[in-house]
Amino acid sequence: MNVHEYQGKQLLKKYGAIVPNGHVAFNADEAVETAEKLGGKLWVVKAQIHAGGRGKAGGVKLARSLDEVRAYANELLGKILVTHQTGPEGKEIKRLLIEEGCPIEKEYYIGVVIDRSSNAVVMMGSEEGGTEIEEVAEKTPEKIFKEVIDPAVGMSPFQARRLAYNINIPKDKVNQAAKFMLGLYEAFVSNDCSLAEINPLVTTSDGRVMALDAKLNFDSNALYRHKDILELRDLNEEDPKEIEASKFDLSYIALDGNIGCMVNGAGLAMATMDIIKHYSGDPANFLDVGGGATAEKVTEAFKIILSDEKVKGIFINIFGGIMKCDVIAEGVVEAVKQVNLSVPLVVRLEGTNVDLGKKILNDSGLPIVAADSMADGAQKIVQLVAQA
Ligand code: ADP
Ligand code: MG
Repeated sequence: MNVHEYQGKQLLKKYGAIVPNGHVAFNADEAVETAEKLGGKLWVVKAQIHAGGRGKAGGVKLARSLDEVRAYANELLGKILVTHQTGPEGKEIKRLLIEEGCPIEKEYYIGVVIDRSSNAVVMMGSEEGGTEIEEVAEKTPEKIFKEVIDPAVGMSPFQARRLAYNINIPKDKVNQAAKFMLGLYEAFVSNDCSLAEINPLVTTSDGRVMALDAKLNFDSNALYRHKDILELRDLNEEDPKEIEASKFDLSYIALDGNIGCMVNGAGLAMATMDIIKHYSGDPANFLDVGGGATAEKVTEAFKIILSDEKVKGIFINIFGGIMKCDVIAEGVVEAVKQVNLSVPLVVRLEGTNVDLGKKILNDSGLPIVAADSMADGAQKIVQLVAQA
């Protein structure tokens, strides 16, 4: 799960990591009020969307007066911001972060990830802040430094200082930077983050070290023990189909292709996407109805797939293990009757009671194409979609 920058910053603050003073605003009046309360002469008006690259796209504005704060707030709110991370459709700006404008001396990069090759949390740093880390990794990989953190010990102060030295934080600010890193690590672990990116971390001419940006991702599987984080969820930022799916406990991820897939089990979902690709098709989604798929779940899954205009055909690939094929077939028939099926549907069933399942599909009188194997099913749906 993602949260907004201002929410991430509030969380970091609790762990002693310094961030600029600021507040969220939902309209221009609130923006001006916040700026007034913050005081000073320079404010930053920042679009709050779940995507980075806002600066380059015009979503971060420097205001030199309260009038400018108001003007920028009016300009940004309601606007569709297209950044290289939003996709061409962009995202509507519904919230702003109004914060103090900081006298930046230099921008750095700090990232925290879960590194599967070292089975540990890794903190990375670079003096090339403000730039995308992917770009730094490609052009100047020697400028990225890593600290692998022992999960039993946690991040030790010497690791934080070493990283700060490596990325050339000025000596007189190394301790502040190290303190920031330790706080960031604490926040990451305590809240079951899956990713934290501070780009940029800055040193300022008034002697501070702080996060000007904060991107935090949280492991969805751990949210049950972080009710406070779950409350930060902004459904406006998520794909409505994915929200609908999560209500029914379906794992759904939208993709770019045109073949809707309904499968049970993540492994089978991957294999199904692979085989569709193998036959030159393109999956429109990843939808796993799970082990205990009921007729109701299958119907909901169907509705979600069909609500995607890109879907030109559906491939159901289900292995009846715990779930019996006849129960699945009944669910599919029920679902097809309920929803207005206007695209070809190929079903491949395998497992317990498969013959009975196939008979139910055949006897239904519905335009369902039965497949004998995964390869057969994939070929059939790719062909049908190509013909349509
Ligand atoms: P994004 O990564 O989405 O472009 P950032 O929050 O990193 O957004 O902002 C982009 C740039 O704007 C930063 O690299 C920094 O140079 C500048 N900036 C952001 N916040 C402030 C601030 N409070 N004061 C001064 N400059 C800022
Ligand atoms: Mg940034």
